[in-house]
Amino acid sequence: MSAKKYTILIIPEGSHQVRRFNLRRSVLQWLAGVSVVLLVTVGLFAVDYFRNNLDRHEFARLKKENRSQQMELQRLVASLQDLQQEMVVLAQNDAKVRVLAQLSKPRSDTLAGVGGPPEEEGSDRFSALQQQIDAVRQAIDLRRESQEEIQGFLNDQRSLLAAKPQGWPVKGWMTSGFGMRNSPFTGKRKMHEGVDIAARTGTPVYACADGIVSQAETAPGYGKLVVIDHGYGYKTYYAHNSKIFVKVGQRIKRGERISAVGNTGSSTGSHVHYEVRRNGVPLNPRKYL
Ligand SMILES: [Zn+2]
Repeated sequence: MSAKKYTILIIPEGSHQVRRFNLRRSVLQWLAGVSVVLLVTVGLFAVDYFRNNLDRHEFARLKKENRSQQMELQRLVASLQDLQQEMVVLAQNDAKVRVLAQLSKPRSDTLAGVGGPPEEEGSDRFSALQQQIDAVRQAIDLRRESQEEIQGFLNDQRSLLAAKPQGWPVKGWMTSGFGMRNSPFTGKRKMHEGVDIAARTGTPVYACADGIVSQAETAPGYGKLVVIDHGYGYKTYYAHNSKIFVKVGQRIKRGERISAVGNTGSSTGSHVHYEVRRNGVPLNPRKYL
């Protein structure tokens, strides 16, 4: 290819006319250059076209995905609102129970003031959602605290009820009431700090409430005495027993047998002298029978 000029012959079939082109080498080189540039350009366009096509598909897919995520988010918002609604109902029930239990109002309820779907766009919308989730969580914590308080209160009530003396310590008949009376021993006016219930010697004596035995011994005047401490300031005394079946420190349930009726101490016959004291002050046991 060192010639300066080239001749291209074009011979149509079935014709004798021959076309002849004389081309200089530089022209040929220029034509080759242009062809290469054209090819590269077409190639680049093709690549670009296919890439755009891919992007279009990806875009459509993302759009669809975005739409379904939006719907998912709306569902979440709706169920969160349901939750808030339920928390409001729970808070109302809680308040009612607290009124019944005569407890103070619970700490400030933030949930009642929060509401409505988040209307902001994008990340604001998510942070609003997060805030609402936090509010629900806080409301749940409040309810839990309140429930624990109510539970504690009910437990206290139950122990108070179990500690309050109730019923007769022995099957028998009352021979002497509570209050001022003439002493059967000295004949002088004297305070009778309990009630006397007559029964046969050996008849079982039962505890009138839950508690702990604080005394089980012979005491002046009382004879064989059992004292039960019930807490909340309550104590009960069972005197003149013939036998004691319990020990100091022993836990006692209401209705448990603690002793047997007798005639020990300052007694004129077989009976139980029964006292109820609150903070050391003798109360009329009739109110607890
Ligand atoms: Zn008495």
